[in-house]
Amino acid sequence: MKVKAISVFFLMDDKLLFTKILGLQPPWFIQQVVVDEQTQRVDIYVDHEPEIRVRCPVCDELYGLYDHGPGRVYRHLNTCQMQTYIHVRPPRVNCPTHGVKQIGSEFGENGSELSFGLESFVIQVAQECSIEATARLCGLSWDQSWNTLERAVDRGRARKPRRVPTRMGVDEKSIARGHKYESLVYDIDAGTVEFVWDDRGQKSLESYYRQFTREELAGIKTVAMDMWDPFIAATKKYVPDAEKKIVYDRFHVMRHVLDAVDKTRKGEHRQLSDCGESVLKGTKYLWLWSLENVPAWRQEEFAALRKKDLKVCRAWAIKENLRHLWNYRYEAPMRRYFKRWYFWATHSRIAPIKKAAQTLKVHIDNIVTYAKHRITNALGEAINAKIEKVKRMACGFRNRAHYRTAIYFHCGGLDLFPKPPALPTLCFRTASSQYVGGTH
Ligand SMILES: [Zn+2]
Repeated sequence: MKVKAISVFFLMDDKLLFTKILGLQPPWFIQQVVVDEQTQRVDIYVDHEPEIRVRCPVCDELYGLYDHGPGRVYRHLNTCQMQTYIHVRPPRVNCPTHGVKQIGSEFGENGSELSFGLESFVIQVAQECSIEATARLCGLSWDQSWNTLERAVDRGRARKPRRVPTRMGVDEKSIARGHKYESLVYDIDAGTVEFVWDDRGQKSLESYYRQFTREELAGIKTVAMDMWDPFIAATKKYVPDAEKKIVYDRFHVMRHVLDAVDKTRKGEHRQLSDCGESVLKGTKYLWLWSLENVPAWRQEEFAALRKKDLKVCRAWAIKENLRHLWNYRYEAPMRRYFKRWYFWATHSRIAPIKKAAQTLKVHIDNIVTYAKHRITNALGEAINAKIEKVKRMACGFRNRAHYRTAIYFHCGGLDLFPKPPALPTLCFRTASSQYVGGTH
């Protein structure tokens, strides 16, 4: 019996084989298959039966064939090692309501050089690799690969339902040396980047908010952000009750104090060096790490340092104590703790610490909102990891717009893949005079 099955396979001609591979249904049929061994290329010419009805892409009604649009060539997935192309002349319909229309293609999107199958494959590869690697692995040019990625993002963003995040983060990322920033809005719960722009300005964040109605914006429960005036101003202008919803990100808040500790160390190290004392040499991170993160092999050294009468040691203790602020679950005790800490910091006679404490005091109302909302931008850590991946792949990007497109592609949570039309685009008349068919 096995022998019989094999012989059936050998009887299958190339047209039948490709009809099965492509899943082609009447009235579509394969007119010709040309295999060129020289150029290692397969060309499949697809045509349709003469008596067809054509679906208007706007109203989905079927009407008679009007004419054909210009011939198209879609590159498809390879047939073994051979590049494969589908040639088709897409019919047009003259809908009494919508006029002459090109049907949605069943082989690849209108305007694409790639079939649905190949375009989807390129997107899958691009999700794993840089754009150069994608181009190389798929046998496409850089521009063709990039074009696929860009179209995927456009498609995904057009399909995305309009929705504001309930818990939102606003953050900025430096993308290269030289202080180039990309600002991001993300949905902390969905773990997706919702909006990317290329400065740290108020107007840009406002343009994000302006997409939504006031009622929709009222749905934002909380926004984590840095103490950055343009972001604060934009949020206060658009989000109802923003003053109760903004939470200054604890890592950004701590960074102000960490910078102050570092400045203190630098100043003191300079002073000590002038007297020939190098006790602070190589100690930068000991003071910046949280105590529990000091590596075991340096703990003894650090304990000895802390016994010395050093300014940086006092600054460090003030910094470490501020961390307790975020353990409070209620606003009132959080404020009381801050007040005590503030008194200590401002009486420390360490100028950078005093200055940092004053900055924090100005912003305290939206630091203590943490007690209620308990969010930080670190909740978006999964996104940060993805953005780091984008940055590593970014060497091949030709401009900053590319970087933004790549962030949407990898981190936007978008439905990126092209889809054939939901209904068969053509029907045909059978012997019993009924219209049936289409590839689906
Ligand atoms: Zn119509």
